[in-house]
Amino acid sequence: MANNVVIIQARLGSTRLPGKVLLDLGNRPVIAWGIDAARKIPGVSKVVIATTDQDSDDPIVEWCQKNDVACHRGPENDVLKRYALAARAENADNILRITSDCPLIDPHVCGQVLALHQRTAADFTTNNDPPTWPDGLDCEVMTREALETADREATRPSDREHVATFIRNTRNRFHVETLICSLPGLSAERWTLDTPQDLDFLREIAARVPCDTPSFVDILSILDNEPEIRAKNAGQQRDAGLAKSIAAESPDIERCFDVSNAMLERAKKVIPLGSQTFSKSWLQFPRKTAPMFLTHGQGARVWDVDGNEYVDLVSGLLPVLLGYRDADVDQAVRNQLNQGVSFSLSTELEVRLAEELIDMIPCAEAVRFGKNGTDATSAAIRIARAKTGRDRVAVGGYHGWQDWYVGVTTRNKGIPKAVCELTHSFPFNNLEALDALLSQYPNEFAAIILEPAGANLPQDGYLKAVRDLAHRHGALLVFDEVVTGFRWAAGGAQEYYGVTPDLSSFGKALGNGLPIAAVVGRADIMKEMEEVFFSSTFGGETLSLAASLAVLKKIRTEPVIPRIWEVGGLIADHARASIQRLGLDNVISLIGAAPWTVLAYKDTETTRKEAIKTLFIREMLKAGVLLNASNNVTAAFTEGDIARVFGAYDYALGNVADALERGDLEAQLGDQIIEPVFSIRSN
Ligand code: PLP
Repeated sequence: MANNVVIIQARLGSTRLPGKVLLDLGNRPVIAWGIDAARKIPGVSKVVIATTDQDSDDPIVEWCQKNDVACHRGPENDVLKRYALAARAENADNILRITSDCPLIDPHVCGQVLALHQRTAADFTTNNDPPTWPDGLDCEVMTREALETADREATRPSDREHVATFIRNTRNRFHVETLICSLPGLSAERWTLDTPQDLDFLREIAARVPCDTPSFVDILSILDNEPEIRAKNAGQQRDAGLAKSIAAESPDIERCFDVSNAMLERAKKVIPLGSQTFSKSWLQFPRKTAPMFLTHGQGARVWDVDGNEYVDLVSGLLPVLLGYRDADVDQAVRNQLNQGVSFSLSTELEVRLAEELIDMIPCAEAVRFGKNGTDATSAAIRIARAKTGRDRVAVGGYHGWQDWYVGVTTRNKGIPKAVCELTHSFPFNNLEALDALLSQYPNEFAAIILEPAGANLPQDGYLKAVRDLAHRHGALLVFDEVVTGFRWAAGGAQEYYGVTPDLSSFGKALGNGLPIAAVVGRADIMKEMEEVFFSSTFGGETLSLAASLAVLKKIRTEPVIPRIWEVGGLIADHARASIQRLGLDNVISLIGAAPWTVLAYKDTETTRKEAIKTLFIREMLKAGVLLNASNNVTAAFTEGDIARVFGAYDYALGNVADALERGDLEAQLGDQIIEPVFSIRSN
């Protein structure tokens, strides 16, 4: 049998609650709770303590001697080294990491983590990534080899302090498994000991537990019977220690992209462009000095295949509204997965989601679903043409990859000329130009489609005037809300600006990352769906519908959209102040509204704007922020994430200003400069 050793880290020097692990909790000191529970974990051979080599922790060593518990000592802040030393001394094959501030650890849950680890031959297995169990039930199991590798290679102070973060972040090298809790909503519970508030809470629990090593179900029933106990420690942040130590370290750490670069060469051999989306491809990032492939995300952060971590300001190109691995959305998806994914007939989910959208979006009287934003914009154009019997379309933004639209861009290879001729672009906020265009082809325009807001914001009265103009010319008005949808307001930009279009397209944020889009609009126009061709195998795929219902519920019941405005506003204000301080006003600016500010660059006398953009993105990456064209914030941004972004803006803008002053900006980049993939022709 493998030598599975529980190593419980313990020290007395806690800032928020000094001496906490030897404090009394019920009939025993806190530390004894974890030890007693750990000894009951099925499959465990031994339980030991790893404390620091500081004199102040001598009382822990003495307590262990008295109570016949093996105790190892090691560096105070390099907890990873402490674990490696203890694991070597015990000749452990697998190490179960538990912390002494989790007195309510459940032996059966830990036993399942260990069993999952061994049955999947994982390098690392946990029950808290993503967090689905109560805070305070955390258990991590790692192989000795994984621990030794981390000890050899991890250099970041936060990786040394938190033992397994190096392993859990480097998913390209380590096989990581997670034991998910199938009971919903438990990640909001807090049963850990960090503050005096926690101690009060735990003492109430300790006075009521049915035995020395209660199960998590025992604790839940105590809390369900006496909810006022639960209220005692509400409102405290989970994993505050890790967030604090990440925030404390300099983000400007050495990042290597070797795995990304090698993977890109592999991808290019089998995938034209090496990517499915222009904006995620090598065309849009500084060559060889940027990550090209990600492994996972959590909240506002993502990790690349080299194990580098970033605060993500791309957010999947905007579908991620609530943050990565949002507990409620993921739970809804898991529940639906248990029923099945794609069925032979429709499901009630479609009806429920359509009803929700009709409730939320001003123009929505009927709804059809697709997968990409392009499905929704193209469907809107098709039914507008069907309804009006006209062919021409006026476009005011980006609307997806289909023939009817891309003919208007410079990347129009493969589109029949006859199709290109039917689409006309018009400048935003310029009513005269739009009027002139519509008048040039009287009674020929089926629709005007535009992004109601974006990099350009509508001048007062503009959107209403566009609607009047469209109707005067017999055309329908389509708001493309693929970006603004669920960022500006729960009912989209049409609610925010108080102008209701005839039809509208939504996508991106609707599923928090699951592929779903919707075309919505006036019932009489949507009725054309019964006549036109709009039909797809995955149109009613249920995981995305379930995710969407969870997203909309959250938007309705939690301050998601106010938080998007707040975070976006804080970042934009900071960036603008930094730009001004560094005298870059004529070089870089942020345009648009707080939920989605776009970076705009200008040529200087010596330097092309594309080069400035490239250097800026490269320097943001160096400072730990993944960014492309705009600030795509999510509601998951913590204060620590925002602080990282502030620091990165200061760092990157400072380096751009220095390079411009020295006059060597383009020279620094060589052939790395990012060129635009297309531009929109005006006609
Ligand atoms: N409309 C707008 C405003 C967009 O920004 C996009 C994509 O970026 C689309 C439509 C097309 O959406 P998709 O790429 O999901 O097809």
